[in-house]
This record gives sequence, C-alpha cells and structure tokens, in this order.
Amino acid sequence: MGEAKILYGKKIADEVLKGVKEKVADLHERNIHPLLMTLEIGEDAASRVYLGSQRRTAERVGIQYETIQLSDGTSQKRLFSVMNNINRDPLINGLILHVPLPPHLETKQVQWYIDTRKDVEGVTPYNLGRLFLGVPGLMPCTAQAIVTMIKSTKVDIRGKEAVVIGQSDIVGKPCAMMLLQEEATVTICHLATDEAGYLEEHVRRAEIVVVAAGKPGLIKGEWIRPGAIVIDAGITAVGDHIVGDVEFEAAKQQAAYITPVPGGVGAVTVAYLMKNTVDAVMWQTSEGE
Ligand code: NAD
Repeated sequence: MGEAKILYGKKIADEVLKGVKEKVADLHERNIHPLLMTLEIGEDAASRVYLGSQRRTAERVGIQYETIQLSDGTSQKRLFSVMNNINRDPLINGLILHVPLPPHLETKQVQWYIDTRKDVEGVTPYNLGRLFLGVPGLMPCTAQAIVTMIKSTKVDIRGKEAVVIGQSDIVGKPCAMMLLQEEATVTICHLATDEAGYLEEHVRRAEIVVVAAGKPGLIKGEWIRPGAIVIDAGITAVGDHIVGDVEFEAAKQQAAYITPVPGGVGAVTVAYLMKNTVDAVMWQTSEGE
C-alpha cells in the first residue's frame, strides 16, 4: 500500500462556505443580516488564534461577528442578565460562549442558558437530544466537520468499524452519535481504556479512527489498520507549533486517508460554525425544521 491521501481541511471548508455565502447573500436581499455574537468572560490568550479565524471566516461569507467581553469576576447573575438580553435580541442570531469559564461560574448552567435556537455550537441539552434522536438541529461543529471529512473520501461508512478516542460532550460523544447515525459500528475509547491497556487493540481493528484527546503522539502509526481513514482533531501547542494526537508520518504509511494537523479538522469546524449560524437564522425565521 502506498502513502495515504491527505485530507486537507481548506478544500472541504471552502465547499461548505460556498453554500453558506450563497444563503447569506439571499438573506441580505431580504434585509436579514446574520449576526454571530461571542461572549468572552476574562482574557484567554490561547483562544486568540481561534477567535481571529472565526472573525475572518464570518467576514468572508458576510456574517457580522461581534464580541462582548466581560471581566473575570463577572457574577453568574450578571452573566445571565447579559445572556438574557442576547437571547431576546432579534438581531443576534448565534451565540458562542467562550470556554473555559472562570472557576466560580457553573459551565453547564451557563451553557444551558443559551437560547436553543441561537445555540450555534450545539451545547444545549435540547440540540444534543435532537442529535441523539437523529433529527436535524444545531449540532457541535467539530463533530460535523469530522463526519464531513470522512464522507469526503466517498468510503461507505455503513457497517464499518469506527473507533472514536475521546468522550467529550463537544467532540467525542457527538461524533460517535453521528457515526452511529450513519450505521457504523462505533466504539468510544477514553482515558480509562488506555489505562486498562486496551487502546491499541481497539485502534488496530478500526477502519475509521477519530482522535480527539489532546495528547500528542497518543496514537502510534504502527497501530493503524492498513487502508483506514484517520481523522485527528487533537490540537496541542508544542513550543510555537501545533500538533495532533496521531504519529502522522508513521500513520501515513498505513492509512488510506489521513488529516494533517494543522490544516485539517480546524478549518472545517469554523466553516460549520458559519453554517450553523445560517441554519439558526432559518430556524428563527421559521423556515428551518
Ligand atoms: P476534553 O479534554 O474534554 O476530552 C479529552 C478526551 O480524551 C477525554 O474523553 C479523555 O478521556 C480522553 N483522553 C485523554 N487522555 C487519553 C488517553 N491517554 N487515552 C485515551 N483517551 C484519552 O477535550 P475536547 O474538548 O474533546 O478536545 C479534545 C482535543 O480536540 C483537544 O486537543 C482540543 O484542542 C481538540 N479540539 C479540536 C477542535 C477542532 O476544531 N479541531 C475543536 C475542539 C477541540
């Protein structure tokens, strides 16, 4: 088997964004100007790169992008009051709540305060429930990006052995649900799987491997089943560069398709944030599901 085909995020993101841009242009003609709001509590230097890319992408497709910055010490009561205004403002279509929140705030309670029709990151129980039931809703962007990258290979997902490493509410679990929806046979691995010594054997039998652990080098190249699809969502800053969770060079010798880090899942995630914003507008104007 030769080297894997590299699944570059930019190409797939551009396709998603093309559709978004057309829909936004239609909305502009009807005098609807989608607005995506980011709410940030305290300063998080690590998030600057991600927020910058969100802003540039929004501007590129004609979505307005604004930020409300609150101080580190903001009380939950005050935060709810700000969120209430956002929830009720008909000119704001999507709300991104930047996490991690300062420790005195209850993350889940705050996330669940987001109006479900403005929940463009898919963090509310309502939208996650829709995902669980397999009906359309606002789904977590990274999970959508991962499944779209798998589908871009044109390999039939149905009946495949899919192994997802990472069980977070925002990446691992929703991704596993989406693959289940596509009728893959899904295994979710996590820290305890590794600690029990079972990670390697799960990865070795996987035809689709999705990794979102944030542990550089966790997945050894030699574990990859020949011909597998490998999607690496991991992002860890090492010195002044970003690395994923898979030993890329070695895995490339085994896999049929593999995503690079950087240059893979990240760009597609941002594209889905824009798509969710347009879907949210449709929903708010009762044109959606
Ligand atoms: P998280 O910290 O909430 O979850 C990490 C998961 O990895 C947990 O389920 C944990 O059990 C598992 N894990 C940790 N160590 C492990 C090990 N040794 N073996 C097996 N599993 C292990 O993280 P998250 O928010 O889901 O993010 C995961 C990674 O994905 C991070 O690197 C993050 O930066 C990245 N991420 C990327 C995007 C993107 O768009 N590309 C978006 C969100 C998160």
